Amino acid sequence: MSHIRVRFAPSPTGYLHVGGARTALYNWLFARHAGGVLILRIEDTDVDRSKPELTTAILQSLEWLGLKWDEGPIYQSQRLDRYRAMAMNLVKAGRAYPCFCTPEELQAKRARAESERRPWKYDGTCRGLTEADRERLQAEGKLAAVRFRVPDSGQTTFEDLVFGHIEVEHRDLEDFVLLRSDGHPTYHLGVVADDMDLRISHVIRGADHISNTPKQILMYQALEAPVPVFAHLPLILGPDKQRLSKRHGATSVGAYREQGVLPEALVNFLALLGWTPPGQKEIVSIQEMIQAFDLAAVSKSNAVFDLEKLAWMNSEYVRNLPVERLLPLVKQELSSAGTPAAEQSDEKFRQTVQLLQSRARTLKDFGGAFRAFFADEFAYDSEAVKKFWKDAAVPALLGELAARLASTEPFDLAGTEKTLRALAEEKGVKAGVLINAARVALTGQGVAPGLFDVMLVLGPDRVVNRLRRAEAYRSSPEVPTIDKGN
Ligand code: GLU
Repeated sequence: MSHIRVRFAPSPTGYLHVGGARTALYNWLFARHAGGVLILRIEDTDVDRSKPELTTAILQSLEWLGLKWDEGPIYQSQRLDRYRAMAMNLVKAGRAYPCFCTPEELQAKRARAESERRPWKYDGTCRGLTEADRERLQAEGKLAAVRFRVPDSGQTTFEDLVFGHIEVEHRDLEDFVLLRSDGHPTYHLGVVADDMDLRISHVIRGADHISNTPKQILMYQALEAPVPVFAHLPLILGPDKQRLSKRHGATSVGAYREQGVLPEALVNFLALLGWTPPGQKEIVSIQEMIQAFDLAAVSKSNAVFDLEKLAWMNSEYVRNLPVERLLPLVKQELSSAGTPAAEQSDEKFRQTVQLLQSRARTLKDFGGAFRAFFADEFAYDSEAVKKFWKDAAVPALLGELAARLASTEPFDLAGTEKTLRALAEEKGVKAGVLINAARVALTGQGVAPGLFDVMLVLGPDRVVNRLRRAEAYRSSPEVPTIDKGN
């Protein structure tokens, strides 16, 4: 059995961010590659900002991405006693001490330091209190936080699997708080207690946590516990090279799901935000990722979140997805787009989706630009109308085409094409003109799959009705709505 044990530890103070999802994915890939265990831990000790519904949303996003954890979820809010006990052990061992400074006192000292342009770190007021001092202050009813006693001199170093050698001078660290005076643990205490108790072998998390690591290593050492291996992942930036935020657009996994992105595509995209698989391939299957994943191949340079690349990747996935997997997704998409489904057999539905699949960029296209393939109520794209129906002869031509198709037997690719071409020749118009005009009538769009394929999936009744509707459009334009694209 592998001894690899990793964890993903989101705080339920927001939805699952793409950065968090990338961290979850790298932990998952690392565990799967090594035959190890992934633990899910919910860091919900911030009572004001943590929300149970956000935990639910995070779990749903992870499930949607297909990132299954092996143990957990473990809730920090259920382990408060453990954290308090650990803080007390550190106090007993002389590696931590109660601090009676009030937030107001600390705030005033910080403000003074700032006004004098001095960097502020905790000044150690309570560091040297004797047992008698502490008892007296406690007897006065003063509440104490617990602070870790950082050694006065020396340094802490570690070898990060991504960022390499990291070294911090102890004089640059302050005696940080472990337990607040209200008995709640800080992030450092909860994380170290849990990672220790869960026997975490590798801590893989965002580079924003690098500065926390030396403090946490000092805690492991004080507790005489083995120190895990650390791997920090590069930051994710927007195209303007600023840290990815709402300003750049959607940042939550859920928002991309709603935009019609496939989980496979998002996983592939996130995997490449910092990691280059061997051969520099862009489209990488989950199996290939598991097989090739290596933290040593993760770059420490910031990764740029490129929406165009995600769109491209998503279209690749939509186009190459086995149709069996695509069908239910399209159904779901149509119902959430409020597309009143036209009556269509399962077989017709499948043929229609297959016909459209190679043209889709996102699942959204099925309820949007492709709406006419699934519903009888759809709008004409105004640009297409302007371009392909401008000839005054078009309505009559479409009417005549309707009449002839109504009696075309068999109504198949060759039969419908023959009918259209014969009509074009007879009327002295180019077949292309009639094809383009009919395409708008049948699909509402100027661009669509081959016209005769479209006729086949729509079937003779719909084709004839739609051509008649288009014929009437000029004389009573209020019949179908004009819309600027979908
Ligand atoms: N809860 C922390 C966060 O969401 C994770 C801390 C860690 O991985 O150590 O950033």
